[in-house]
Amino acid sequence: METVFSKIIEGVIPCKKVFENDRILAFYDIEPAAPVHVLIIPKKYIASMNEVTAEDLPLIAEIHSVAQQIAVELGVAESGYRLINNCGPDSGQAVHHLHYHLLGGAKLGALTG
Ligand code: 5GP
Repeated sequence: METVFSKIIEGVIPCKKVFENDRILAFYDIEPAAPVHVLIIPKKYIASMNEVTAEDLPLIAEIHSVAQQIAVELGVAESGYRLINNCGPDSGQAVHHLHYHLLGGAKLGALTG
């Protein structure tokens, strides 16, 4: 399914890349919610967390590894950061291509429900 993120993966929409390999792309969020706000996405189309299968688990593990690496590279590993996935309507998920927000660089507000 085509989304703004598939267009970013294809290079049709530009982005400021932080990391890329054959399976994963990470880039700065266009509307940052924190001084560091990076989106980490699989290149494979997965609509949301609900569609992750057992076969995808190595990819999800690799996303965590990439997040850890990016946090070090962007200088927030020690100060702290959040890795957030929004899934479904109540979460506010706007782009229906699995993605993780890496947020840091300032004291983040309390999570609200
Ligand atoms: P969601 O609410 O789906 O978890 O988050 C989607 C995120 O994608 C938002 O934080 C939004 O700012 C970001 N976003 C939407 N369109 C673009 C775009 O064209 N480029 C970039 N870099 N980020 C985008």
